[in-house]
Amino acid sequence: MTAPASTDARTNLLGLERPELEAFVVAQGNKPFRARQLMHWLYKRGEGDFNAMTDLARDFRAQLLTTADVRLPEVLSRHDSADGTRKWLLRADASQAFEMVFIPETERGTLCISSQVGCALDCAFCSTAQQGFNRNLTAAEIIGQVWLAQRELGFTPGGERPITNVVFMGMGEPLANFRQVVPAIRILMDDLGFDISRRRVTLSTSGLVPQMYKLAEEVNCALAVSLHAPNDALRDELVPINRLHPIAELLEACWHYIDEQNGRSVTFEYVMLDGVNDQRAHARELVRLLKGRPAKLNLIPFNPFPGTRYQRSPQAVVQAFRDELLRGGLMATIRRTRGDDIDAACGQLAGRVNDRTRIRLGHKLAQAVAVAPVTPEPRASR
Ligand code: SAH
Repeated sequence: MTAPASTDARTNLLGLERPELEAFVVAQGNKPFRARQLMHWLYKRGEGDFNAMTDLARDFRAQLLTTADVRLPEVLSRHDSADGTRKWLLRADASQAFEMVFIPETERGTLCISSQVGCALDCAFCSTAQQGFNRNLTAAEIIGQVWLAQRELGFTPGGERPITNVVFMGMGEPLANFRQVVPAIRILMDDLGFDISRRRVTLSTSGLVPQMYKLAEEVNCALAVSLHAPNDALRDELVPINRLHPIAELLEACWHYIDEQNGRSVTFEYVMLDGVNDQRAHARELVRLLKGRPAKLNLIPFNPFPGTRYQRSPQAVVQAFRDELLRGGLMATIRRTRGDDIDAACGQLAGRVNDRTRIRLGHKLAQAVAVAPVTPEPRASR
């Protein structure tokens, strides 16, 4: 057996969608069906050790040991909320940290994953925006989150799956990392991969319109859109990408996605900010905007974080807002806030980054940022 190459030279199989994995094994002189076998071990059995993949030919295993690996993000810490929500602080290489959250419910388990470390979109009410943009996660780092969570949540082959839904609602703007996010979505939905149905994988975007059209050509997952305001004046302020792609343009892209993908509806996220966007008039504007369209409103009580100028709308205001939407004929739900006590709720995934320089829209995006040292907790045994 040859000595393993250095980790960097090996391909992390978690980032490869089925055709890429086939090409990878074929390029090494193997039959394409080897890729299926590998996927079975990786995703159906949760096995990442080639030596344990007992039905693979010996020489193929030896080859894999030198050319491939299954590299997971490192767990810096885990936090368990009283309500069962679990948050992980993860690191993918020497210097960057990002977060992932699991939200268990009676009928489903939702994993909320990150697509970038930090974010460049600078939404006024989001804590991730405060740290600026650090870097894109690779497809392997995105899939690595799901793989790791599944393992830690007690996945057993053939048993009940802890993760039934995956949402791209952690750190980052997924459509700003299109090239890595699309293969990750395909692996999530592939029946040889995580085999999660298209309605249970949700990409949430702040509204990168050109990429929404591209997305419609590439995948058919569920779409959520961070609307947060019923008119351009207010949305320009809350979600600055609106200045580039105003609401009318954004909605066109939404309806196009639904038509193209034969989808049911777009979920519009609407964070309830006290005295800012939570008045009855705003609800009426939303009705005019969305009535008769394949749209659902999801009202999110604002989750405060240090330094924010916003406050959460009172519960009664949120209820009244919802009632107004229902009266207007829209579908609307109120998101139950989970993981409050561990800062795992929407918009609280700030990570730990030393350099809190804000990198505003339109500025150069890539910037290496060091992570404050964190004492790692011992890893859970497998
Ligand atoms: N960048 C993507 C996905 C990440 S955020 C997007 O913008 O859609 C997931 C959702 O949480 C978004 O709707 C986002 O606007 C919302 N959110 C951000 N900060 C929040 C906060 N402090 N309180 C409540 N929701 C927030």
